[in-house]
Amino acid sequence: MLAFCAIRCPVSEPQDPPEPPVLVSACLAGRPCRYDGTPSPDPEVVRMVAEGRAVAICPEEAGGLPTPRPPAELSGGDGLAALEGRARVVRFDGTDVTDAFVRGAAAAVELAVARGCHKAMLRAHSPSCGVSASYQDGELRPGPGVAAAALAREGLQLSESGGE
Ligand code: SF4
Repeated sequence: MLAFCAIRCPVSEPQDPPEPPVLVSACLAGRPCRYDGTPSPDPEVVRMVAEGRAVAICPEEAGGLPTPRPPAELSGGDGLAALEGRARVVRFDGTDVTDAFVRGAAAAVELAVARGCHKAMLRAHSPSCGVSASYQDGELRPGPGVAAAALAREGLQLSESGGE
C-alpha cells in the first residue's frame, strides 16, 4: 500500500542580507583602553557589540601603544594631515608617536574592509577617533583624528559619540 506524506514542506520567504557590522571605537564598547586605562561606554554601542551588530577596535592599541599610555595630541594639522605627512602626533612628554597612530589607522581600515563595514561610530575629540574635531596643539580644533581620517578616506560614513 502506498502512503502519502501530507506534511507540507515550509517555504522560506526570501530574506534581506544581514546588515554589515558598524565599526566602533573599543572604548565606546566598554573596553578600558583610553590613555588613562578607563572606558568611555555608550550604552547603544555596548548593545550593538553584544548583539553582533558592531565590531570594536582601539586604533591606538592596534598601532602598538600600551594602555595606560601618556596622552597625545596632533601637532601642525588634523588626522588627514598626519596621514599625508604634513602633521605629527606627539605625546605630552614630547615623544613622536605618529607612526603608531598611522599603523593603528591602517589596522582600523583593514578590519573595516575585512568585515564589510560601511559605517563607523567613533569616540569624539580623540586624536585617533575624533570625527568632527580633535585635539591639535593644545586645543580642540575642527578636523578628524588619524583613524577617523583614514576610515573616511576609505569611504565609511562616520558618526561620533562621547567626548568631553
Ligand atoms: S578613542 Fe579610539 S584610540 Fe582612543 S581609546 Fe577609544 S578606541 Fe582607543
